[in-house]
Amino acid sequence: MKPRRFDYVRPDGADEAVAVLAEYGDAASVLAGGQSLMAMLNLRIAEPAVLIDIGRLGELDYVRLAGDKVEVGAAVTQNRLKDWPELAARLPLLAAALPFVGHFQTRNKGTVCGSIAHADPSSEIPLSLATLGGEVVLRSRRGTRVLAAADFQCGMLTTAREPDELIAAVRFPVQATRQVAFREVARRHGDFAIIAVAACVEAGNAVRIGIGGVADRPAVRHATMNGAADAKDMFESLAWELEGYDDVHASARLRRDLLRRVGPLVVEEALRCAA
Ligand SMILES: Cc1cc2nc3c(=O)[nH]c(=O)nc-3n(C[C@H](O)[C@H](O)[C@H](O)COP(=O)(O)OP(=O)(O)OC[C@H]3O[C@@H](n4cnc5c(N)ncnc54)[C@H](O)[C@@H]3O)c2cc1C
Repeated sequence: MKPRRFDYVRPDGADEAVAVLAEYGDAASVLAGGQSLMAMLNLRIAEPAVLIDIGRLGELDYVRLAGDKVEVGAAVTQNRLKDWPELAARLPLLAAALPFVGHFQTRNKGTVCGSIAHADPSSEIPLSLATLGGEVVLRSRRGTRVLAAADFQCGMLTTAREPDELIAAVRFPVQATRQVAFREVARRHGDFAIIAVAACVEAGNAVRIGIGGVADRPAVRHATMNGAADAKDMFESLAWELEGYDDVHASARLRRDLLRRVGPLVVEEALRCAA
């Protein structure tokens, strides 16, 4: 299928992008890398009157340290962040997770913020942002507000973004240790995860655990692990708590089973990982 007719705006700056969003509201769609939006247009799942192309806005194309956070602007592609020289030292979880996001070609166009905006429960970047306790910076003509990742993603493909708001940037807290592990189960490398598990050791045996692909949004837990039995028990109860869902890729039961098997391995790997 082909998309419905739409107007195309390529603003000169973020102010202009926000002004067009204020004018059109939910009749407008922001076009970043187009790796999800183009398919939605072609399938007519999205039928905007106007596309606002922010993909080439230089002022939003930055990765910078802002205090104890790494701020990533809305025009930064997934490959640009993956190749950021400080990534492994500052954000080892993202360094482990980004190679699983699609393919080299899709990462060359797809943006970090576009993935957050799209809010697929199986996506690796929203999972990493939630696990690390990151933030989303939303800009509109009314001003700027900052939401915790946990408050931003409200459900499957659903976020707290208002129609006139642009995601200007996301902020990932710099990690205290390099003890991380990330694994996912997918049909093929580069496919969306059926389930994904992230673990980051904060100090000693205290671990932050993020789970993607099982609930309608990333689930994050903090736990102190005193041995392999703790991790096994935790994932056993999490599998029932998060329930899972059926789709064309897997049943809810398979998702729960994968979580029970993969989860403890990821936590053990993070705890074993030398600082
Ligand atoms: C073959 C293929 C495989 C893929 N595999 C994976 C995978 O394994 N894991 C994964 O996570 N993703 C995967 N993706 C999706 C990919 O990561 C997309 O890049 C991402 O979901 C969207 O980023 P984008 O920049 O392309 O956004 P777009 O497609 O341009 O936009 C997506 C949505 O977000 C909105 N949006 C984008 N940017 C902003 C902003 N700054 N402010 C407000 N709204 C905004 C758009 O309006 C649209 O609704 C895959 C895509 C393809 C084509």
